[in-house]
Amino acid sequence: MGDLTDSLLAFAILFAVFLPLERLLPAHRQKVIRKEWGTDLLFFFGQYLLWTGPVVAALVFVQQHVDMLPLGDLRAFVAAQPFWLQVLGVILLCDVSIYWAHRWSHTNKFLWRFHRVHHTAERLDWIAAYREHPFDNLYTRLVENLPAIILGFPLPALAGFAVFRGLWALYIHSNVRLTPGPLRYVLGAPRLHHWHHEVDKGGHVNFANVSPLMDLLFGTYHDPGEMPERYGVRAPVRHDYVSQLVQPLLPDRK
Ligand SMILES: [Zn+2]
Ligand SMILES: [Zn+2]
Repeated sequence: MGDLTDSLLAFAILFAVFLPLERLLPAHRQKVIRKEWGTDLLFFFGQYLLWTGPVVAALVFVQQHVDMLPLGDLRAFVAAQPFWLQVLGVILLCDVSIYWAHRWSHTNKFLWRFHRVHHTAERLDWIAAYREHPFDNLYTRLVENLPAIILGFPLPALAGFAVFRGLWALYIHSNVRLTPGPLRYVLGAPRLHHWHHEVDKGGHVNFANVSPLMDLLFGTYHDPGEMPERYGVRAPVRHDYVSQLVQPLLPDRK
């Protein structure tokens, strides 16, 4: 279980960072306490207090048992590289893994049941990033880190990048119209990920996270130069916190 004081502190810091950004450079005019903000707040505290612990435990378990694989030479080769190259390797490996894991969670019926929760948000801002079913969260964190763990990349590089990736996820969901200008084909931005949440186009474009290179490479890059108007899913699903957690576990209603 996470610590409530740490969670409140994390919330206060993130709120203080994103509030001015979303007020000064808003992508859409919307209230801070917008519709379903309370739901996303519950997802925030749920993730900090309940779900992050099991995810980290699963990753540590994999890391501790990976020696059983016959990859000694490859792992020794990775371990011999300079730290900057290891960091670059972690970024690339994680981004390739997350791209395909994310794409699959839109086409595989079972995975979509859980990933759909993330797409029910009809307004996006930094806290909407936390709207993730715990199983979707576990699946994503495992798949994105698995190749780097198996290949023996050092834990400091993995942990550091995981923290960065968490903050990056908040940034690309935020209600902010910042774009990286000439670097837009190398670095992701809120506009790209907002299109991934668009009610019709979403789910078919912009699966990448930190860099849109994989989207460019596999033809899923989409940037019409403006923010989308409508977000969410067309399927009739309940939006409250408990239903969002329980509904994916129940059989579909006919
Ligand atoms: Zn998202
Ligand atoms: Zn998605």
